Amino acid sequence: PVRTRFAPSPTGYLHLGGARTALYSWAYARHFGGTFVLRIEDTDLERSTPEAVQAIIEGMEWLGLSHDEGPFYQMQRMDRYREVVAQMLEKGTAYHCYSSPEEVEAMRERMREAGEKPRYDGTWRPEPGKTLPAIPEGRKPVVRFKNPLDGEVTWDDFVKGTITIGNKELDDLVIARPDGTPTYNFCVAVDDWDMQISHVLRGDDHVNNTPRQINILRAIGAPLPLYGHLPMILGADGQKMSKRKDAVNVMDYPAQGYLPEAILNYLARLGWSHGDDEVFSMEQVCSWFDGTHLSNSAAQFNIEKLNWLNNHYIKQADNERLAALAQPRMLAAGAVFDGAPALPAVLALMKERVNTVNELADAAMLFYRAPQPDAALMTQHLTDAVKPALAQFAERCATVEWTKEALAAMIKEVLAANGLKMPQMAMPLRLIVTGQLQTPAIDAVLQIFGREAIVARLAKFL
Ligand code: GLU
Repeated sequence: PVRTRFAPSPTGYLHLGGARTALYSWAYARHFGGTFVLRIEDTDLERSTPEAVQAIIEGMEWLGLSHDEGPFYQMQRMDRYREVVAQMLEKGTAYHCYSSPEEVEAMRERMREAGEKPRYDGTWRPEPGKTLPAIPEGRKPVVRFKNPLDGEVTWDDFVKGTITIGNKELDDLVIARPDGTPTYNFCVAVDDWDMQISHVLRGDDHVNNTPRQINILRAIGAPLPLYGHLPMILGADGQKMSKRKDAVNVMDYPAQGYLPEAILNYLARLGWSHGDDEVFSMEQVCSWFDGTHLSNSAAQFNIEKLNWLNNHYIKQADNERLAALAQPRMLAAGAVFDGAPALPAVLALMKERVNTVNELADAAMLFYRAPQPDAALMTQHLTDAVKPALAQFAERCATVEWTKEALAAMIKEVLAANGLKMPQMAMPLRLIVTGQLQTPAIDAVLQIFGREAIVARLAKFL
């Protein structure tokens, strides 16, 4: 059965690259009717925080990437790691190493000078017929993995193709520190084994860890998962993404008015393709995401494309949902909803051209604050030639049927009767009704405000 996992280190927020890894692992499991596991790799005590765990879980919830098992915490699995270390010592696939950190550094230095790749020289590695040095008094050993000396490690990476690393390149990795705490690659291998992970999808910054983990998995008798290493996401400038210049925290996106389906669609397409499709639902991604068509080159972040998708999903979104998202921002900006037009109807009118829900909220404000037209603009547009026409318009507002069509027809009649062109009346009307010159179509604006509000506003200026 397919079992995938997302295994973040909780040292900060959920970043875009992590979210993409989570999405792909999730979609892969969903595609094959498998299981998606969440594992928190929190053994780095200095950098891991409970807040970061919360932030990651919150980010995944916002995206709707629900896990089937977990979260498992590595810190709660210490006994299990110690147990496996003990088994390996017993089996002879790991050994106690009493070399001091200074000695290890000295041997590395010697190798560097000799032009070799620095590694542990095997002083404490037991071999048949070899006599080990005397154990230095009072020194606590580390446990090292007995990495094979010859041969190579090969795997068919389903993103990068076949990768081969010679065992000579690999060190006898420390798997437990002097205080007994296990180290990173060892924990990952034990976890992937215990959690029966069949497919590991992760960032290609982990490629170097993979042969080490494979060797450990072999030594403990675990089946090997298949691996796929995703190239990283570059910033808009083609450089590594950084929080200084890029919005890398997934939860910055809702704050800026992005919808989760836009982020998901964007991330799905960033490193994976399905023909020429650019827009797809998560149902479609799950039904198509079978581990093929994953890109092997770094993807570059493109805000225009994300904005285009966000606009697409805003246009499709239910207006009540958009209203719930926009309202807090509008309230903070002083919007008064009492006696004002219903927000969903206003958003429906304005959502065609916005990139974000925040832009939409800002645009909608014109319906929810008292208009304060600029006096100079008012003088310029509310000319003596227009005043009588507006007065007629105001009068007819009392009785006209309050639909967009009837209002448009009535405006036409008033224009004709006064020998005016549309902008001559629409501009002062916009100013009076909204305080600004740019608004959606005037008939739609009037209709939404409602008869009472329009009559009252006109009365104030005429
Ligand atoms: N904890 C690692 C990270 O956050 C991921 C490890 C893995 O996927 O194997 O980069």
